[in-house]
Amino acid sequence: MVATDFWDAVGNTPLIRLRRASEETGCEILGKAEFMNPGGSVKDRAAVGILGEAVKRGLLTPFQPGTVVEGTAGNTGIGLALAANARGWKSVIVVPETQSREKIDFLRMIGADVRLVPPKPLSDPGHYVHTSRRIAEEMGAVWANQFDNQANAAEHERSSGPEIWEQTEGKVDAFTCACGTGGTLAGTARALKARNPGVRIVLADPHGSGLFSWVKTGKVAAEGNSVTEGIGQASKVPGNLTGAPIDDAVRISDEEALYQCFRLLAEEGLSVGGSAGLNVAAAIAVAKSMGPGHRIVTVLCDSGARYQSKLFNPEWLREKNLPVPAWLA
Ligand code: PMP
Repeated sequence: MVATDFWDAVGNTPLIRLRRASEETGCEILGKAEFMNPGGSVKDRAAVGILGEAVKRGLLTPFQPGTVVEGTAGNTGIGLALAANARGWKSVIVVPETQSREKIDFLRMIGADVRLVPPKPLSDPGHYVHTSRRIAEEMGAVWANQFDNQANAAEHERSSGPEIWEQTEGKVDAFTCACGTGGTLAGTARALKARNPGVRIVLADPHGSGLFSWVKTGKVAAEGNSVTEGIGQASKVPGNLTGAPIDDAVRISDEEALYQCFRLLAEEGLSVGGSAGLNVAAAIAVAKSMGPGHRIVTVLCDSGARYQSKLFNPEWLREKNLPVPAWLA
């Protein structure tokens, strides 16, 4: 089958059996290989969902002048910039300067107008989300607004969830993943629950994020911090996550996330980033709580290549007091 363009090549990613996680738990743990999307991450889905909705609303027209603006940890910006290139539009991407160099360099390479901003709390008008909204208003451009724009979760409800259902032939007991915007978790959860309300949905959260406490107690409360990028929310539940059918939450440390990340690479040939490691650690925790014989699906959000200078850099790991994998030591 031939994909007609970038947009059409997004999605339909393989579901990969994770051998070590499955052996360790007696469950079958499956990872949705989102790093195989054409822009290299799960966020390609949000990008085509959001831009497709903007076209439907008449805010953008293919091959007519147009600009999309977004604030992003990087991956959404990459998806938006590539999807915009494929339709003749420009992109302005606001990124906190703390994000990995690989993502920032890649955004520049693909032609995005990259604006770096210092990291700020969401309450500060200089936060990257507010900055991107202001730039969009000033330019009269389309603001993607991935946190609150429901086209994000809707795209996962249309694509990720049904894909998982079909790939597992409906044999799926639980789905777990971390949240940045919550689009992946909310949309996939809605699609799976609609087909079988018994599918257990578990939010995976890093330290420094308040979403674990939100699921457990109804109050957003954060402590600590994490080296993972693109996931966790310290102070606010994104619009895309509100109302999602979530049954439970697990909190995962950086050590656990990185252990899985390194093990997937060394023992299974899967190069993934920190959020994917965290998701696999969460899937193992869910498997252990459910007991052997269950099938748990999670998301391998992006590639390890996006974090060579950080998670796979022995000096950086040592500085952060994190374990260095044997082959890099
Ligand atoms: N992992 C990575 C690497 C990401 O960039 C993001 C999005 N920022 C996520 C996970 C979370 O996805 P979502 O926004 O759909 O919750």
